[in-house]
Amino acid sequence: MGSSTHSTLVLVEHDNRSVGIDTLRTLRAALDLQCDGTPLDVTAMVIGFQCQPVVEALNKISAVKNILLIDTECCQQVLAENYAELIASAAKDFSHVLAPATTFGKNVMPRVAALLGVGQLSDVSEIESLDVVVRPIYAGNALARVKSNDSIKVMTIRSASFDAVEIGEECSLEVIRLDQEIASTSSTFISQEKVESERPELPAARVVISGGRGLGSKVNFALVEQLADKLGAAIGASRAAVDAGFVSNDLQVGQTGKIVAPELYIAVGISGAIQHLAGIKDSKVIVAINSDPEAPIFQIADYGLVGDLFDIMPEFIRSV
Ligand code: FAD
Repeated sequence: MGSSTHSTLVLVEHDNRSVGIDTLRTLRAALDLQCDGTPLDVTAMVIGFQCQPVVEALNKISAVKNILLIDTECCQQVLAENYAELIASAAKDFSHVLAPATTFGKNVMPRVAALLGVGQLSDVSEIESLDVVVRPIYAGNALARVKSNDSIKVMTIRSASFDAVEIGEECSLEVIRLDQEIASTSSTFISQEKVESERPELPAARVVISGGRGLGSKVNFALVEQLADKLGAAIGASRAAVDAGFVSNDLQVGQTGKIVAPELYIAVGISGAIQHLAGIKDSKVIVAINSDPEAPIFQIADYGLVGDLFDIMPEFIRSV
């Protein structure tokens, strides 16, 4: 385990089977925490139930020094209140505690910071030194350089800003098992409804096609789905499309939705409000389809198609 001056704890997001892509990127960010040019030791913390496959996956990541494992039936479901107690108790031995800035990390880490009595560095997009980081503010319109004087730096990492660590050969890491009881009684798991999809997950997808209010209805949103199926793409949506009920809110892209950084992002009938752009800025190539040539999305798009999406999309789908 680490010492309180120079070591990093990374909270692993997983489904008891595999390590989430955002964690692989957070592990990469952790390597930027360096002392005299050498990355701090990284301990991966896995909390779950029957999550041996996750440990095996981490075993192939050379960026990880060792693994802290809490494998108990009570941790089968993520309850932030319980997880936070467990992480805060382990975190006391580390100088930096990182988690991806996903719904999971955003739920758990502020509680961890509060239990430790320190501030949180949220949505970190660059690590400059052991105590200085960069993070977007005002929906990504400005970047703040922030110095933390806290003894333990608790951070959530904007994973779109970092590449994933490589998965290599088996390296048999030391696994430290912790037998801890869950202290919190303030929440109980009741049930979970999960949308199962054959399509790629938004944060991991190479191609994302998002639809906006311009599609007009849930039925018309099928145009986005058809193109996504042809391109093997993930589907996203603007908040207006989510609010109108075209798709479920786990597909929302933007400041208050998911942050994506695919190789290709196609925005269909989306105006390009700053809150939407905040979630797509790191995409390599952005294509916009919009009938309004003045739509702000065209200021950020690499390719713009000005025209009626109901003419363009069927042609696009046919031609792929
Ligand atoms: P609109 O702005 O209504 O744009 C629709 C576009 O479709 C227009 O540009 C129009 O020209 C085009 N169009 C219409 N018909 C056609 C056609 N037939 N062919 C081609 N083009 C057509 N939004 C997000 O997306 N994600 C967020 O995370 C998010 N977070 C927010 C957080 C806060 C605190 C606030 C205040 C807002 C947030 N929003 C977010 C909302 C955001 O401000 C916008 O309201 C929203 O992004 C607009 O969605 P839209 O582009 O689909 O709709």
